[in-house]
Formats: sequence, structure tokens, C-alpha cells
Amino acid sequence: MARNLDPKCRQCRREGEKLFLKGEKCFTDKCAVDRRSYAPGQHGQKSGQRLSGYGQQLREKQKIRRIYGVLERQFRRVYAEAERRRGRTGENLLQLLESRLDTAAFRMGFGASRSEARQLVRHNGVLVNGRRVNIPSYSLRPGDVVALTQGARAQIRVKAALEAATSRGFPEWLDVNVEEGKAVFKALPQREELPSTINESLVVELYSR
Ligand code: SF4
Repeated sequence: MARNLDPKCRQCRREGEKLFLKGEKCFTDKCAVDRRSYAPGQHGQKSGQRLSGYGQQLREKQKIRRIYGVLERQFRRVYAEAERRRGRTGENLLQLLESRLDTAAFRMGFGASRSEARQLVRHNGVLVNGRRVNIPSYSLRPGDVVALTQGARAQIRVKAALEAATSRGFPEWLDVNVEEGKAVFKALPQREELPSTINESLVVELYSR
């Protein structure tokens, strides 16, 4: 199963904002975006570079892909499904990305970052409705229960991630039981519950060209 192996902080610097790909480091003053707020590479510090309309749309699409750790082909597939569904394509797209098991496990606090949550899923660390599911792109439906296995609950890093997530608070669309290490995916998130820094309409414009 392919995934993006580019250095995480470099991806954030490319997009010019914090994408929170590294877990706890993202909340400290060691964050690379805070330290070097310019694009990576030899020409990263050139000023006055303005993006065309297409450039902006492309950057936004890349940013969303990087946030959710999805490669181009899979992203296209998710987009096609978002387009097929009723309602606004952009909102559907974000809802589909948020229903991915790796993202949901991250939001539930089972991993400090999406990639850590993804690894937990790949290593059989979670159960969905009591059954082992180790596919990160598995799409959750409202009402699904995601639980940590006994082994995963005992892991120090999982405990630390749950503790940190508890202190930051959980999203509205999840009902997390920290003591039991399980959570209910109550509903698909509403657009206003998701980060306002994402402009999904640019992706719709890009793919409608
Ligand atoms: Fe991005 Fe986190 Fe690295 Fe900051 S620390 S640049 S938010 S991955």
C-alpha cells in the first residue's frame, strides 16, 4: 500500500502552513513552519512569486492530499465518489476523507499523528464493530464503533496520544470513551466543524477544468 514518504515538515513548508503531520512536535516551538516560514529548496526564499489561479487550485489540492496522507490516484477516486454523491462535492470530499479509518483513529486520539494512527491500523491495532480491520482507507459509516485491541491499549505511545488528544478535546462527530479505548463515529462531520483553512472549492474548480 503506497503512501507519501516525503519529509513531513518539508511538506508543511511547501504549503506555507502547519499541516500537523508530526504529532506532538507540531505543538512545540520546534515546528519547522514557525522556524523557517518559507518554501523549502534553493528558491524557497524568493519573494514576490504570485500564483496563478491554476497554481492556487493545484496547491490547495496538494495541501489536502498531504493533510490526509492520500496519493493522487486514490484522491481522484475519493473525488469521483464525492461527485457522485448528492450535495456539495467539496463538502462530500472532506466528509469522505474524514471517514477514512486512519483519519478517524487519529481524531479519536489513538495515534499522535495520522501516520501513527495509520500504522496502528496496519498493524491490526483496531477493531471496527468488533472485527479486525487493517485497511487505512476503510470508510466508516455513522454508528460504527472503533476500538483499540488489548495489545494496542497497552502501548505507551497510544496511551500518550490518547492523553494528549483528551487534553485538546475531541471533535463533535465522535464519541470517545478514553477509559475503554473506543469511540463511536456518530455522524459525518459538518463543514463548519472542519478546519476553515481548507478551501475545498478550489479542488472542485481544479477538477472541473
Ligand atoms: Fe508541519 Fe508539524 Fe513539522 Fe510543524 S512540526 S512543519 S506542523 S509536520
